[in-house]
Amino acid sequence: MTRSPRFEFNFRKTLSAVVFAAAGTAMALLSAANATPAAPAAAESLRVYFVDVEGGQATLFVTPEGQSLLIDTGWDGNNGRDADRIVAAAKSAGLTKIDYVLITHFHEDHVGGVPQLVARIPIGTFIDHGENRESTDGPTVQGWQAYQALLATGKYKRITPKPGEVLPIQGMHVEVISADGVLSEKPLPGAGQENAACKESETRPADKTENLRSLGTLITFGKLRLLDLGDLTWDKEMELMCPVNKLGHVDVYIVSHHGWQQSSSPALVWGITPRVAIMDNGAKKGGTPSTWDIIEKSPHLENLWQLHYSEEGGTAHNVAAEFIANPQGPDAGNYLELTGRGDGSFDVFNSRTQETKRYPAR
Ligand SMILES: [Zn+2]
Repeated sequence: MTRSPRFEFNFRKTLSAVVFAAAGTAMALLSAANATPAAPAAAESLRVYFVDVEGGQATLFVTPEGQSLLIDTGWDGNNGRDADRIVAAAKSAGLTKIDYVLITHFHEDHVGGVPQLVARIPIGTFIDHGENRESTDGPTVQGWQAYQALLATGKYKRITPKPGEVLPIQGMHVEVISADGVLSEKPLPGAGQENAACKESETRPADKTENLRSLGTLITFGKLRLLDLGDLTWDKEMELMCPVNKLGHVDVYIVSHHGWQQSSSPALVWGITPRVAIMDNGAKKGGTPSTWDIIEKSPHLENLWQLHYSEEGGTAHNVAAEFIANPQGPDAGNYLELTGRGDGSFDVFNSRTQETKRYPAR
């Protein structure tokens, strides 16, 4: 299925203001059209942009009312490459500011892009897990200090939530699952069943980096449930999911840690039984074959999508080309976009192929 022209933009640096102006006009026309019963349902949808930041994370959620949440900001450097790609996604969604920026943890592929982003688009509130706990890693300390310097200007609000708290974002329900190494203790409503996948998951030593402190969230939009745990590690997944599954089923698993082997235990992935998994890997980062196997073997998985072809995965451990935004070759910055509806149905659009796959409500 091909998308309407409104969606047919590539988030390239060459995208001109003229194109954005045209998009604005098209959206105004769409809004007018939405007044009629036969109108497209785009205005009632949650849009989620999986921006390609080459093995970091940058995931932008936009509610029907235009409230926005960006989870992580990609890397610093590269002449603002990641910030430019995020801003292009935001503008394509009709945003002139980003209301909330959630930093899962203070590694450079998550917090690194903050200074370049604030130089390009207004930000309302930052959300994070508290202090940086990894003071021995140079790039982490640098990213943390640059972020602290921005907070010290007093221009931004800051929220440091605990597990169980619901973030004050209108139009979708965002509940904190993990923060600073602490996890939700009580099963979510409807969850709490014994998790059979625990016995399939080896016990691993506790992680000692910022990863385990990731600020993880479960995002609910009507019947649609999406899980983002940042780079939360295997040991914490086991704590969260064993012996009982505290999360229940989710529709969309935003693959933890770029599909690297330190995360995505069977206890987590087979416990949440996602319909779709979306992996924000880079060509040379993430997409470990053993992790790819665990995701692909997940019961009821309909598709795994990848932001990049994984070089480590080779021919045996990559999905079919139509599910990859950026195949082998020069960096093109193609993105994936999910459009979710309150009945639980959703679409995934690949900006490279311009094709959309529909996942009907179940
Ligand atoms: Zn990461």
